[in-house]
Amino acid sequence: MLIPKQAVLAAVTLCAGIAFAIQVPTSDQISLSTGNDRSDVLSGFTGVGNEPRAYRPDTSSLDFVYHNHDDMTRYLRATTARYPNLTALYSIGKSVQGRELWVMVVSASPYEHMLGKPDVKYIGNIHGNEAVGRELLLHMIQYLITSYTTDPYIKWLLDNTRIHILPSLNPDGYAASKEGTCDGGQGRYNSRGFDLNRNFPDYFKQNNKRSQPETEAVKEWINKIQFVLSGSLHGGALVASYPYDNTPNAKICRSSSTCAVFNSYVSAPSLTPDDDVFKHLSLTYANNHAKMSRGVACKSASPSFENGITNGAAWYPLTGGMQDYNYIWHGCMEVTLEVSCCKFPPAYELRKYWDDNQLSMIKFLAEAHRGVQGFVMDPNGGPIERAQLKIKGRDVGFSTTKYGEFWRILMPGVYKLEVFADGFVPRDVDFMVVEQHPTLLNVTMQPSKRNDGPYYRPVQQPAQSQYRPQIAAPGLPGSGGINSGSPADEGILSTLSNGFNSLVNNIFG
Ligand SMILES: [Zn+2]
Repeated sequence: MLIPKQAVLAAVTLCAGIAFAIQVPTSDQISLSTGNDRSDVLSGFTGVGNEPRAYRPDTSSLDFVYHNHDDMTRYLRATTARYPNLTALYSIGKSVQGRELWVMVVSASPYEHMLGKPDVKYIGNIHGNEAVGRELLLHMIQYLITSYTTDPYIKWLLDNTRIHILPSLNPDGYAASKEGTCDGGQGRYNSRGFDLNRNFPDYFKQNNKRSQPETEAVKEWINKIQFVLSGSLHGGALVASYPYDNTPNAKICRSSSTCAVFNSYVSAPSLTPDDDVFKHLSLTYANNHAKMSRGVACKSASPSFENGITNGAAWYPLTGGMQDYNYIWHGCMEVTLEVSCCKFPPAYELRKYWDDNQLSMIKFLAEAHRGVQGFVMDPNGGPIERAQLKIKGRDVGFSTTKYGEFWRILMPGVYKLEVFADGFVPRDVDFMVVEQHPTLLNVTMQPSKRNDGPYYRPVQQPAQSQYRPQIAAPGLPGSGGINSGSPADEGILSTLSNGFNSLVNNIFG
């Protein structure tokens, strides 16, 4: 669907009264936003003395107890009936045993995407026995809807963001888990015994695991909605862990057995080109948490994490994880948030976990409003869908929505945006990101068909398959790219490192 420029601009202006103006496409080189200074809203809740507003929930609506699937369904249905202007409930599919995978949208525009404004998500309980995140997300829903009219910060967040909350991606595993069980793997997997956080396509190594309904539901979901930022809640540790979770095979070892040992036991960091952003996002969570940033080990035998954050592969590498898939395939920045040393603590501890995580959970999502955002359009102001974008020097790309929108979280600095679209001349646009507010950048593309000559053909056509990785060039700095080991190496490495990973998973979460 083409949208005339005037309609786009009018819609943007009308949408919830955002204070900054979208620049017209003719002046698209550097279009910094004005007004709507975000420093107020991102630096702290807007309570008295800039302190977080303590939230005491309405316990008649949501108690601090564990909610089984039926209880959770009842709560979600009742909430969306009571708050129809702020919530919408949908299901992305069913678990193996037929339980709905509920998602609650909380936003001032729950039923429709708000033009120019980011969609973000939280996913809980991908490991069925890691139950705290599931309850935290229910309380998060309750907190957002009950604070909208009283807390200006929450009002700003919901007026400018659509927050999708999936409290349980593994309801079957949850049903097989037991309250009070801090460790172990019972209930971790889906009902067919698959670890859902090892079930996604992998950029670094071939993932031969049979794709599960829960995984397929997520893949379809994030292919439909372009999420900018995501958090996946786990338990069994206290740390924010950022991509990559997997790592290319190191080639400093000569024999496959040495490589296996090296890869498994000397877990080297596997850093993304957006490492500065991922560190910042992780620190945002850890620093706003009651104790995560102290980095204290859960047990004497557990690792401690400096500042409460870690690179995923530096902790332990894994294949088929959800956060690498989000980032590489869809350009969505996802961080794994380990929120409790005990995977399934007794219910009377839930209030403490909520108090510890409440501020982190809010401020993490608000980071979707950092960096650059805008529209890619044709000369008539019509949106260009699926344009491929890349920040120069950062080889994991992203693409525009059907309305031509894009977002990218970036730290303050000077950047170059590279834009490719079928039928248009590629463009580079310089822009700057500042701390106080997102940079608005509109890019007008010129058709490649010229009156004075043949079609312009870009040297490199970006891949166009449905689930395409967002990496422009195969391979990462310092790596041999996908499957850099020989096939023989790969088999041995996979077997050994999977064995090691299972061991580590059962210990750490
Ligand atoms: Zn987990």
